[in-house]
Amino acid sequence: KKSWLARLKQGLSRTGSSIAGVFGYVKVDEALFEQLEDALLMADCGVTATQKILAGLRARVKSERIEDAAAVRTALAKVLADHLRALERTPQVPAAADEKPWVVMIAGVNGAGKTTSIGKITHHLSEGGHSVLLAAADTFRAAAREQLAVWGNRNQVSVVSQEGADPGAVVFDAVQSARAKGIDVVIADTAGRLPTQLHLMEELKKIARVCGKALDGAPHERWLVIDGNTGQNAVAQVKAFNEALQLTGLIVTKLDGTAKGGVLAAIASTCPVPVLFIGVGEQLQDLQPFSAEEFAGALTG
Ligand code: GDP
Repeated sequence: KKSWLARLKQGLSRTGSSIAGVFGYVKVDEALFEQLEDALLMADCGVTATQKILAGLRARVKSERIEDAAAVRTALAKVLADHLRALERTPQVPAAADEKPWVVMIAGVNGAGKTTSIGKITHHLSEGGHSVLLAAADTFRAAAREQLAVWGNRNQVSVVSQEGADPGAVVFDAVQSARAKGIDVVIADTAGRLPTQLHLMEELKKIARVCGKALDGAPHERWLVIDGNTGQNAVAQVKAFNEALQLTGLIVTKLDGTAKGGVLAAIASTCPVPVLFIGVGEQLQDLQPFSAEEFAGALTG
């Protein structure tokens, strides 16, 4: 089986106009920069980040007197890594008992990979020796509750779920239950209708408020799951959810099959919410901490 990095690389270099593909050129001239500009835009870096990255690259090429394309590629990887570094953050489950349970609220539009990511994060935390309880705060869709139950089963952790209940109440119950059982982390799945629907944003804020009553404050972490293939749409989602929830992190999914990984560069330049994990497949273990350097390396081939 291919390593996750190989799969990430393969996805990111999928199109004919990929960033890595540009380095078939040998000369360092204006044509190379133009090709790179096209490739960065095609990869969903967006105009602002593309201009910034190219300006950084030109400066480096000049100051280091770079004359061959291979060295430009290395320089681009460095410029990109610097650009993406603003997104790095490693979340820590607190060690102190009085800070438990650590409550993570997870939001995202349907299909982004929310439930799958919750399954993977639960696996990741369990491997790290932390106990986890899941809360099915998408109480409206039966399918969402069932799917969460499947991932709960796979991880052998309990799921608090109640059909038709108030989502905030479910999270509240989960927090109390986790406290009683001495469980380290509560992960709450929330409903994923479109972020433009004001109703959803109000519901999310309400969950945070009700949960806050059990915690003396908002959920410790508020993470948004976005599909790495959805480009500017994903950036718009980050902005909208961040306004409602003051996000503490992102999970970017489906980077194993896409040529569009540049969306992270767009996020870094327009709405830099840290990327905690990237999704590189459909299995439990297909979740990786985000590293700017690794990602920039994969993006540039
Ligand atoms: P939700 O509606 O946001 O809860 O989305 P799901 O978790 O049900 O995921 C939607 C689809 O995307 C499912 O078919 C998942 O297997 C798939 N998926 C989720 N994450 C990844 C990923 O990182 N890579 C790939 N290839 N597929 C993923």
